[in-house]
Amino acid sequence: MFNKFEQKFIGVIKLKIENKTSWDTKNLQTLFNLVCKHEGYKPKTVIVKYGKMVRKDNDNDKCPFGNRLYNIRIGGLGGLGYGWVKLMIPNSILVSNWDKNGKFIRDQREKLMILDGTIVKKISQVFAHEIGHNRGLIHNVMKHSSDINVDYIDDLVIHRMVCNNKKNTDVITKRYNHTIIMTDKYKSKISKLESELKKTNKTFKKWNNKKQYYEKNYLNKVK
Ligand SMILES: [Zn+2]
Repeated sequence: MFNKFEQKFIGVIKLKIENKTSWDTKNLQTLFNLVCKHEGYKPKTVIVKYGKMVRKDNDNDKCPFGNRLYNIRIGGLGGLGYGWVKLMIPNSILVSNWDKNGKFIRDQREKLMILDGTIVKKISQVFAHEIGHNRGLIHNVMKHSSDINVDYIDDLVIHRMVCNNKKNTDVITKRYNHTIIMTDKYKSKISKLESELKKTNKTFKKWNNKKQYYEKNYLNKVK
């Protein structure tokens, strides 16, 4: 299936992933390696981005749980010849539901917590298709990506990156703690200024009373 040039790269060169999403790079690596092993070809770089949410009405999948329809589109691009593959995988999906009164609610955005089942299957099929382009194949000699057998991926799942989330949480906690310090600082500044204003008002009142006393008792009489 593959020539000597291609063979050289399989299992030798580590697949480089440019991951621009928060999907776990290690999980993606595992999936891509599996597909590469099965297809007998390894691209140089896989660029992973979030895809746009597009509804194609004739491309709905029946949700495995409950009475829902959802739409998934995995975009892909593969350079013709050894090189790069781009995959556009979802961050969220559009889901249609029926509410408890049986009313149809269309296109609600749901952020995905995990990639599994049909979605991972589709990603694998699109990836295998793009690998085909890397090998120099064009569409009229390729089968449709949905016909590519990827049963070997089994029940592989892709999680969100944990370490990044922890890093974010640390940064957020640090920034939140700083807001506590700053609000406390200005609260005490305000209360100091308020007590000073009170004192100043009192002093002003005292001198103003004296002024009025003189105006009333002496200045009028001088006239
Ligand atoms: Zn194609």
